[in-house]
Amino acid sequence: MESVDLCPCGTGITYAECCQQVHRFHAKANTAEALMRARYSAFVKKEIDFLYHTFHPSTRRFQNKQAIGQWAVENKWMQLHILKSTLHTVEFEAHYLDAQMQVQVHHEKSTFKKQGDLWYYVEGTVKY
Ligand SMILES: [Zn+2]
Repeated sequence: MESVDLCPCGTGITYAECCQQVHRFHAKANTAEALMRARYSAFVKKEIDFLYHTFHPSTRRFQNKQAIGQWAVENKWMQLHILKSTLHTVEFEAHYLDAQMQVQVHHEKSTFKKQGDLWYYVEGTVKY
């Protein structure tokens, strides 16, 4: 069973059946939470273009693909916990090891917006 590639987002199903579908077809994320999970998995799978393109168009120009890539690569993403999700928001904790191999928890409440058929990440408030 070692070879089963479970989805990093923690649903317990395989990556191929879960977030990879969204990485290939953005429209497969039919809720804010599904997009949030796929964005977390994209950090694990280094799907930097997906991360970039799922920023809401109104905020995308402020994003830097290189910085996103660096954040994805320099941390080792371990686990995602969804604390609360509503229609437009998801509060979560992402556990990771930083470049110094220290365990860190990124606790964020993210806001999402639907435009046409697609959900986008608008912004997040980091909680401490
Ligand atoms: Zn997933």
